[in-house]
Amino acid sequence: MYTPSTTRYKDMKYNRCGKSGLLLPAVSLGLWHNFGSVDVFDNGRSIIRQAFDRGVTHFDLANNYGPEPGSAEENFGEILKKDFSGNLRDELIISTKAGYTMWPGPYGDWGSRKYLISSLDQSLKRMKLDYVDIFYSHRPDPETPLEETMGALDTAVRSGKALYVGLSNYKAEEAQKAIEILKQLGTPCLIHQPKYSMFERWVEGGLLDVLEKNGVGCIPFSPLAQGMLTDKYLKGIPENSRAAKSHGFLQTSDITEHRLQQIQQLNNIAQQRKQSLAQMALAWLLKDNRITTVLIGASSVAQLNNNLDSLNNLSFTNDELTAIEAVLGQ
Ligand code: NDP
Repeated sequence: MYTPSTTRYKDMKYNRCGKSGLLLPAVSLGLWHNFGSVDVFDNGRSIIRQAFDRGVTHFDLANNYGPEPGSAEENFGEILKKDFSGNLRDELIISTKAGYTMWPGPYGDWGSRKYLISSLDQSLKRMKLDYVDIFYSHRPDPETPLEETMGALDTAVRSGKALYVGLSNYKAEEAQKAIEILKQLGTPCLIHQPKYSMFERWVEGGLLDVLEKNGVGCIPFSPLAQGMLTDKYLKGIPENSRAAKSHGFLQTSDITEHRLQQIQQLNNIAQQRKQSLAQMALAWLLKDNRITTVLIGASSVAQLNNNLDSLNNLSFTNDELTAIEAVLGQ
């Protein structure tokens, strides 16, 4: 039996998502890795419970998370059924997405109305939910009219299957157009989910300005660069780390000598701040008030706790910021 902590809302910081009515926790949890059928169910369940006990109300999924694709949604549905029954659903913000390959044939990929609507129906079944809070177009589809993809998001909301909609992986110009279409349809874009970390800064070249101008929130994914922005790879590649797993998206070839040198120097700066590198990497993103929440992953309760403790120190001195820029510029 799981009884959520009665103090769960005490320490979390909640930020308004763009100009919407929705508040999101400064740290949100994603189920891309560690929650599939290849993973240990009880470990995932403990991570979700601990997250909620510490005020993490937002859980992010997609149709294809696993592996096997779909199994993260199935496992999450089981956890919801076992631990979050009744009115607890109203304390959760659950998102899912469609846009990458999910099933064979011409209707299981990209951005058609056919794919998005049927994929959302499948996601709801797997999670045993009546609705998701946020439904995303997972990536732009160059072959499908943007009006069709945005129209499908609008339909998801009008049919009661989603409360809000979001975009993921849309570049600044594409995002601007999509946001305008959604506005005309009467279903404003709530949030954008781009890849953003100290090691991946493309959003600073225009996207963040577009989101701010339009009152759209921002939820950076892979804020720890899949684990590289922690101390875990400083002494080699640990067994069981994402880089060591055959199904992990982080490749050993991503962990270059150059990266390791940067990581070591960033780790030194974090230590001077009396933080772990993971905590500093998250705080570094959250210092920009255009960032609503950082979307982390975690393979253990200890990692989750470490990351949540980033909220204890979110401010930087100018000297620290300059030192970080010097490392990132190398
Ligand atoms: P992170 O960059 O936070 O990487 C998480 C991984 O880093 C963990 O699984 C763990 O890896 C390691 N880690 C985390 N915390 C620590 C710590 N304190 N100390 C040491 N190692 C740590 O995020 P993800 O890449 O997992 O992405 C997060 C979420 O973003 C996804 O779950 C998904 O919801 C979303 N996402 C969205 C995408 C999109 O296209 N919209 C694409 C990718 C992700 P290890 O297994 O090695 O322990």
